[in-house]
Amino acid sequence: MNIKNKIINLDNSDYHMHSMNFSDWLNTIEEIVRYAWDIGLNEIAITDHSDGAMDVLTSMFNVSKTTFRYSLRKWKNVHNDVNVVFWVEADIMNEDWDISDLIQWKESEFINLSAHKDICWTQVKSIDTAYKNAIEKHHKKIKCICHPCSNTNYWQEVDINNLIDLANKYYIPLEINWNYLYHWKTNIDKLHILIKNANRIYINSDAHSLYGLREYRKNVIKFLEENWYI
Ligand SMILES: [Zn+2]
Ligand SMILES: [Zn+2]
Repeated sequence: MNIKNKIINLDNSDYHMHSMNFSDWLNTIEEIVRYAWDIGLNEIAITDHSDGAMDVLTSMFNVSKTTFRYSLRKWKNVHNDVNVVFWVEADIMNEDWDISDLIQWKESEFINLSAHKDICWTQVKSIDTAYKNAIEKHHKKIKCICHPCSNTNYWQEVDINNLIDLANKYYIPLEINWNYLYHWKTNIDKLHILIKNANRIYINSDAHSLYGLREYRKNVIKFLEENWYI
């Protein structure tokens, strides 16, 4: 089964990564953009964590962020021709339709939608209901559903077939996330179901370091080749 036609970014683009400026990456936006060019990427989305996630992360690790999101409106890529867009990795917050999709109270035109156990576990009993309500309410601005095959903690309860049906209904790509695959945080059976049944797929690094940016996406491609998907 060849799935090349449903992978949106098989060319040199990566739509999930984090910066030091706004969340938990080791390098700054400027360093990421320079390195993206060096490794042949032509478009990247820097998708830092939402305020909801950062509230939890900063309190857990006693860190703080000092870059003002507002200053991004003055930012341009002065290094090279990599097209850079800034989205938010938004968080499902409860079983209704509430998501955290702001960074420093500022909205982004587009988001990647994620469910992180650490952020919302107290409010979410059924992750399937939470996904359904969040996607139905926010589908117009969702660019990607991140790490849907996560096997960490109770996220293994996600009904992947339901999630794929929902994503297909709204033409939202589902992600093959190398960060999760590499760190044994992926349910491989679900991943094969996703690859076969999702209509649109992104392959993203979810990189938190320059090493991740260089290696992770490349390794998804290797995984797909080894399994005869491309
Ligand atoms: Zn995530
Ligand atoms: Zn991420």
